[in-house]
Amino acid sequence: MPEISSSKPYRIGRSKTGLGLFATQKIKKGTKIIRYFGPLLDSKNKKHDDIDNKYLFEINNRWTIDGSTRKNIARYINHACRPNAESDVNSRKRKVIIRAIKTIEPGEEINYDYGTDYFKIFLKPIGCKCDHCEKKRAKKRAEERAERLKLKLKAEKKAAKQAEKAARKATKAAGKAKSSKTAKKPLSAARANAHARGTGKPTKTKASRTKPLSRVQPRNTAKASTRAKRAS
Ligand SMILES: [Zn+2]
Repeated sequence: MPEISSSKPYRIGRSKTGLGLFATQKIKKGTKIIRYFGPLLDSKNKKHDDIDNKYLFEINNRWTIDGSTRKNIARYINHACRPNAESDVNSRKRKVIIRAIKTIEPGEEINYDYGTDYFKIFLKPIGCKCDHCEKKRAKKRAEERAERLKLKLKAEKKAAKQAEKAARKATKAAGKAKSSKTAKKPLSAARANAHARGTGKPTKTKASRTKPLSRVQPRNTAKASTRAKRAS
């Protein structure tokens, strides 16, 4: 990583998309931050015209700065659609200066708009990761989530209504069959109780455990007999 003297108001740091340039001091609006520099490429030179990398800065139809050199600290500045700096191009001097267009606070990432051509070729296909675009995407996702939730609730409400309707029908139909169904229950419940009482107390002897079971038995037959009476 190239060194930056401590007198400079920025440092290279980790950003969302890799590395970025961050303010270490307050940078006032309008202040020159850094120069974007590198060898000048002449479009009339066939060899120059073949050079292609992500750091080419086109000054005009003829001249382009090849900013891929690591000494060009400005190449670490990331693109933003709502930036806090701009690239100030002096076509005659073939110089590019990055200048603050807002007051930048310490710790804030410095960025400028790379322009429509760069955006279309490099950023649009992968999705721009700048704060503005991320917020826009997050808002869209939240809206889509809300819409899905709305549809889900609507479907649930409809299903609940249908279930209620079906339940009402079922209760009417089940009204007649109800008495025969409930008659079976006391017997099985009593059996379960008897088992629970028998096995639930392991400290008791085998002999004492048989007692509750034998006590339950007559009760069962008693209930069975009343049921028999009801049925007849
Ligand atoms: Zn963006």
